[in-house]
Amino acid sequence: MQPVKPEVFLIARPALDWDEVRRYLKGVGGEAWADRVQDRVADEEALVEFAGRVCYRSWEAGLNPNVTRVRTNSHVYLRNILSSGHGSVLEHASYSFLFHHVSRVLTHELVRHRAGVAVSQESLRFVRLSELPFWFPDWARGDALLMERAQAVLEQLEEFQGWMGDHFGLDSQGLSFHEKKHKTSFMRRFAPEGVATDILVTINIRALRHIIYMRTALGAEEEIRQVMDLVAERALAATPALMQDYDPNQDREWIPKFLKV
Ligand SMILES: Cc1cc2nc3c(=O)[nH]c(=O)nc-3n(C[C@H](O)[C@H](O)[C@H](O)COP(=O)(O)OP(=O)(O)OC[C@H]3O[C@@H](n4cnc5c(N)ncnc54)[C@H](O)[C@@H]3O)c2cc1C
Repeated sequence: MQPVKPEVFLIARPALDWDEVRRYLKGVGGEAWADRVQDRVADEEALVEFAGRVCYRSWEAGLNPNVTRVRTNSHVYLRNILSSGHGSVLEHASYSFLFHHVSRVLTHELVRHRAGVAVSQESLRFVRLSELPFWFPDWARGDALLMERAQAVLEQLEEFQGWMGDHFGLDSQGLSFHEKKHKTSFMRRFAPEGVATDILVTINIRALRHIIYMRTALGAEEEIRQVMDLVAERALAATPALMQDYDPNQDREWIPKFLKV
């Protein structure tokens, strides 16, 4: 048994091609907006603001005769988007998070979020288990008797994985990949749901706000609560404006002021 701890890696986030943005804005007379925003605002925030301003042609007052004044502060502009529930523009910006050493308890719950989420999960049909990486929460690690018995169970399961691998001759020369996959898939049935694994999720910011709220609630499962707390911290650092209505309480619940975005 390999003791592990869930980790979060923010491996990708939006980047604007400002040359192309400016090429477009030059044509519609909105370059002053780029001058105000570029280098001052995170690209994910600029992208969301861009999406909003495309809708009303509100780069500057007067470009649309119906628009006589515009919000020139991005933070204020985005707060208005959030508070008025025009969240569809948030869907243009996504983050890709790699969750390392998370259990299948967590991944099974995470993949229930369908709207705005793309998933690539480590396949235990292809990836053969040898050691069983496993996370124990602090309270469990403090219970010596529980740990002794839990480790004995995991060691037995681990030994059985190794035994099956030998029994099925999975390392023998010439065994077809199809057969390896067939037996590896059978073997994973004897892995506990707590076995640590990896999953890559790309989530748009509208969906992310919802998932952070749902999965850091006190009623949510403890591992996903901890992981989503890390995610929320990363999101807040990356996009303070689009997370501006979140403030974790003493229980680390992230409850937004604007629920329906
Ligand atoms: C504390 C907790 C306990 C839970 N317990 C259980 C349980 O016991 N059993 C169980 O099966 N699940 C359980 N779940 C999972 C839960 O029911 C949802 O499936 C999961 O949280 C995904 O959230 P979502 O439905 O908001 O979907 P998301 O995909 O995150 O969707 C976001 C929002 O988009 C809208 N939306 C998405 N899809 C549709 C659609 N098809 N039609 C209309 N609107 C849509 C909804 O407004 C939705 O809230 C639990 C979740 C939590 C947080």
